This record gives sequence, structure tokens and C-alpha cells, in this order.
Amino acid sequence: MSYISQLITFLNQAQTTDLHTAGYDKEYKGLSVKVSFGQANRAKIPWIAFVAEEQHVSNGIYPVFLYYEKYSLLILAYGISEVEIPKLSWGLHYPVKIENIIDVKRFSYRYGKSYVFRKYFLDPNKENYGLDSKIIETDLDSIIKDYHLVLSGNRIIESNRKCKNVEIKEEEEIGIEGKRRVITSISAERNPSLRKKALKYHGKKCRICGFDFGEAYGEKYGQDFIEIHHIHPLSEGNDYIERLTNYKTDLVPVCSNCHRMLHRKRNKVLSIEKLRSLLSQKYRHK
Ligand SMILES: [Zn+2]
Ligand SMILES: [Zn+2]
Repeated sequence: MSYISQLITFLNQAQTTDLHTAGYDKEYKGLSVKVSFGQANRAKIPWIAFVAEEQHVSNGIYPVFLYYEKYSLLILAYGISEVEIPKLSWGLHYPVKIENIIDVKRFSYRYGKSYVFRKYFLDPNKENYGLDSKIIETDLDSIIKDYHLVLSGNRIIESNRKCKNVEIKEEEEIGIEGKRRVITSISAERNPSLRKKALKYHGKKCRICGFDFGEAYGEKYGQDFIEIHHIHPLSEGNDYIERLTNYKTDLVPVCSNCHRMLHRKRNKVLSIEKLRSLLSQKYRHK
């Protein structure tokens, strides 16, 4: 049974001030389902949690849908309670925290420490907000499978779906400037061929220091390993709205060190030129 109809009801209600949740299914695949739009007042982030026995929303871990209205974003997350620090850990290999993709501090959003399983960008003009019931079903099933793995003591989840592309990390940046929604890398993210094109166009050397993983670690092992930095004009304070990613101008290959340095300061991403000017001659590869 797909969960989509419950989810759509939830998203519809999230557009209103109605806080009642009595009408929702109480159970899904053996897990108890908790829905919340807030207690006395409308919460900033309404959620649907799938909670196993002995786990609690206030103390535990659980798969959870979180709705970030401002971003038109629904996140299916490896949820972690915030009231109490849970004893169990998800044990993910390459976790991506929600606070890494959303400026939770700025909007004092909750659940920043929970891990992203998948994000769904919602389109209010499309049927079911553009959500695909099959995908929702598959995603929910696999995160619940992970959940059972963790609960049964097999703590390390071997195949975290988030890490399919460990080799070439994609930038994920979402921000809000004024009232405009800014999502700079959706198209890149939805379009893996953009990555390929970027690498073909820019080459696989770090644009800042010239490091070449293939050269350094051998073609057999190191080849094709490079990160992709997404230049997002938002950081330069421009007014920017959602737009297509141009792999020639927006995506730049950088090594892991330089990439970290570009993002070292939380609210300011350095420009490629700036970081290159800071880099000592000694560390420049030819
Ligand atoms: Zn570099
Ligand atoms: Zn970057």
C-alpha cells in the first residue's frame, strides 16, 4: 500500500491552520505513525514520524517526513529526537545532515541534526505536488528496512542511498534570499550528465591547486575522483532566482582540500580566484 494519499492529506493540511491529526492512519508496516502540525500553535516544520516500539519521538530514532514550507521541500529523514539524545545511532556511512543543506539556524528550524534520506521538491501546481507515489513507497520501504537493521543491532547501514556518488560529490545548496526561493543546484542534481559534461569540459584537475587524483594515486585507483563545486551567485549577494545550471560556468572541479577551504566559513563561500590567490606557490601543482 502506498503512503502517498496520507502524505498528500498531510501536505494539504500543512497549508492551513488546522492542527488536528486524529484522521491519520495510526500504523504503517508495523510502526506507529505520529503526525504533528504543532501543539497549541502551528509548528514551523510539520512532520510524520514512523516510530518503532521502545522508540519515542522525544527520545529515539525514527524515519520521518519533514515539511519545510519555505523551501517547498519535503525531506524524508533518518530522524533523531531533539528533546533527548537517543541511545541508538543510525550508523550511516556518509550521512548528510539537514543543517548541511538548509540554513536551520537562520530560521530556527528544528531537526537540523537528522540525516537526509531524500529530498522532494514540491510543485503546488502539479498533481500530488509532483510527488511520485512509487518513489515515495520505495523510499519509505527502504528507510524502514534500514530502521529495522539498526533496531536489530546491525547498526551500520551498508548501502546508504545518499552515497551513490561518493566519487564525485555534488554540491547541494539551498538558500533563501529575500522572499525568493533560491535553489541553485537542483538541475545539476537531477541531471547526472551535467557532472559528466562538467568533467569533460573542465578536466579532472583541481581548478585551484591543480591536484590530479589519477596522477597522485594512479590511474587505476585514483582516476575520475574529483569533487564538483557549484558556484552559486547567492554567496556574492546577488539577487538570484531558480535557474538552470550551466556546467561551463557554474560547475568547477576541485580537490577535497580546496573544496573544504572554499566552504570553510559557514556563511561565506570563497570565490575560486580568491582561494587560488591565498594558496601558497609551494602547493600548486602544474
Ligand atoms: Zn585543490
Ligand atoms: Zn562547493
